[in-house]
Amino acid sequence: MIIDSLTHILPTEVSSNLEKYKKIDLLFNELFDENTNVITEDDLIINMKKYNINKSVIAGFGWKDPGLAQLINDYLIEASKKYQGSLIPLCSLDINSKFSEEELLKCISKGIKGIGELHIEYNSLLEKNFIFKNILNIALENNLPVLIHGSEPLGHRYNGKGTNDPKKLYELVQNHPDNKFIFSHFGGGLVFYEHMPEVKKVLKNVFYDSSAQPFLYHKNIYRNAINSSSINKILFATDFPLIDMKRCLSETDYLNIEEKSHIFSHNPISAYNL
Ligand SMILES: [Zn+2]
Repeated sequence: MIIDSLTHILPTEVSSNLEKYKKIDLLFNELFDENTNVITEDDLIINMKKYNINKSVIAGFGWKDPGLAQLINDYLIEASKKYQGSLIPLCSLDINSKFSEEELLKCISKGIKGIGELHIEYNSLLEKNFIFKNILNIALENNLPVLIHGSEPLGHRYNGKGTNDPKKLYELVQNHPDNKFIFSHFGGGLVFYEHMPEVKKVLKNVFYDSSAQPFLYHKNIYRNAINSSSINKILFATDFPLIDMKRCLSETDYLNIEEKSHIFSHNPISAYNL
């Protein structure tokens, strides 16, 4: 079985009114322009069938407008019902919106499997943000993973890259050691600090996804990440439609059967409680 641990879909209401939503939501404005690939649940399923992907995690981006967050969360939940078992919905939230806790509880009652992808910049001030703290507490109580975008401190810039670098992600985990986190894009490189025994210990509840890998890293990162962290903590993800599924899959060709069965199947099943 192959599970794609991170994809993004949008309702046509949003994709056909890009300019309207760019004005409404700051993060949306940063991530989307007329050249951005946008797809619906039906397009995603067609692509999954083409490349023998059995299940995909579907997520938003941590919107800044509560109305947009709600619209897209409802859409993701409906899409997962339509393609029962094939699409795994996450709940996207603005960590500064007073509506977010209620939205999260609603999404949990409707069967979401995690929170994310959140675009935050972690710092000590966030420890005084009670909305953020409560989101993490609710996640913990409900055994839901929190998926957070990781930013490489070096290398090329891209829309939405942000500055949520490995040091910030590490501090977040230190302050919330019991939460289960999934850091996208290999945690912006955090995965490699697991060569340090004390760091590995702190990051015991952290998983890493490989979303957008061909844009960011050489394909050898898969085996290097497994060696640095663990065969049990790396998830295969595409970030589709940002990047072609076939290209992402082909970068894993060199892995052995055991490595593939972990990144494609065992690890997302354990990270997302599937
Ligand atoms: Zn991301």
